[in-house]
Amino acid sequence: MILRAAWVVPVSSPPIRDGFVEIADGWITAVGSAAEGLPSDEALDLGESILTPGLVNPHTHLELTCYAGQIAAAPFWDWIAQLIPLRAAPRQVQRESAGVRDGAWQSLRLGVTCVGDISRRNLHWRVLRDIPIRKICFAELLSIADDPPRNVEELRAAFDEIREDALLTAGITPHAPYTVPPEQIRGAVQIAAQRKRPWTMHWAETREEQAFLRGDQAGAGRILNQLVSNGRLASPRREPRELLAECVRGFAPGLLAHVNYASDADIAALRDAGHTVVYCPRAHRYFGHPPHPMDRLVQAGVPVVIGTDSAASNENLSVLAELQFLRRERLTDQSPAALLRSVTVDAARALGLAAVTGAIKPGLAADLAAFPVVGDDPTAVLVESAPLPSHVWVAGKQVLGGQTGSCDSRGG
Ligand SMILES: [Zn+2]
Repeated sequence: MILRAAWVVPVSSPPIRDGFVEIADGWITAVGSAAEGLPSDEALDLGESILTPGLVNPHTHLELTCYAGQIAAAPFWDWIAQLIPLRAAPRQVQRESAGVRDGAWQSLRLGVTCVGDISRRNLHWRVLRDIPIRKICFAELLSIADDPPRNVEELRAAFDEIREDALLTAGITPHAPYTVPPEQIRGAVQIAAQRKRPWTMHWAETREEQAFLRGDQAGAGRILNQLVSNGRLASPRREPRELLAECVRGFAPGLLAHVNYASDADIAALRDAGHTVVYCPRAHRYFGHPPHPMDRLVQAGVPVVIGTDSAASNENLSVLAELQFLRRERLTDQSPAALLRSVTVDAARALGLAAVTGAIKPGLAADLAAFPVVGDDPTAVLVESAPLPSHVWVAGKQVLGGQTGSCDSRGG
């Protein structure tokens, strides 16, 4: 099959005016300029469109899609105090399984063909295996939870339960350093290393988390102090960056979600360790954090990719709307091209999928999205207008076709 479009934006190489992509058996076999000749006469002409790699959302919790719009924007601890009782209501598994399904299809409709998805009770993979979206299904360890996985043994069992296939890869996530003790974080990351699978963890999300890790009771806030006084948590009384280094020493670097708070010394430690940061701009705003250190991280050489977090703290699961928001609110000096890489090739690398998806080049899977807009600078058009795709393919199979419109970050 050959797709032709007014613009092909491979991301890994410069945009091609009047370009084509050749696909065979679900893989990209050629990309080039149609003016220089198509490999065959039978091309699907997408006309005035921009053809891009399918977008990658490296940090989300699809199961929370069922709580979208139910919690008003608030500081993180107020938000989580409202989320916990919502989740605990009867029929959680059925409700959140439906959330996974809705979130996955919403993602595809937004041009996202690959997600790094976290599920508290490991229910996501059973739903996602039947949906044509590429996914890393991270099994989550939360030591203070009522339901498994609550320890390294239960996490290993959950991980081993996940049945991988061509589109589904298992991953590991110790939830956060305030819900998982250091030795269990290390045990979790060790499973990822043994099984050669990616790991991710929420890190430096709030000031209270950092105060708790240092043993600063005055700064740790009501909820964490309550968990300590109930005997469910104990502060490791360590400088957070030293704690992280100790937990992952000897293992491959990981994907750290948020890193909303980082000193220059923290940033240098992240760079030296080789970790990647995933920043979720609209969720960051939702929780009212001070400006994110994105540009300081990038300047120091820490890769930063962009995700949405869950629909329970965001308007939708559009990574293009995240980029549009960053530009419109002037939250970064990164160029449109660099921003587009943060939701394609760089995000794929962060999930361990650089050899599979995230760019248009021969040898990668034909995960593609076509956006029915044009302009002289297609990358800027995508980032600034956050259009909806007209067509989406995953591993060469068309999973969406026909609609037009805009997914503006102000609504929808
Ligand atoms: Zn998260």
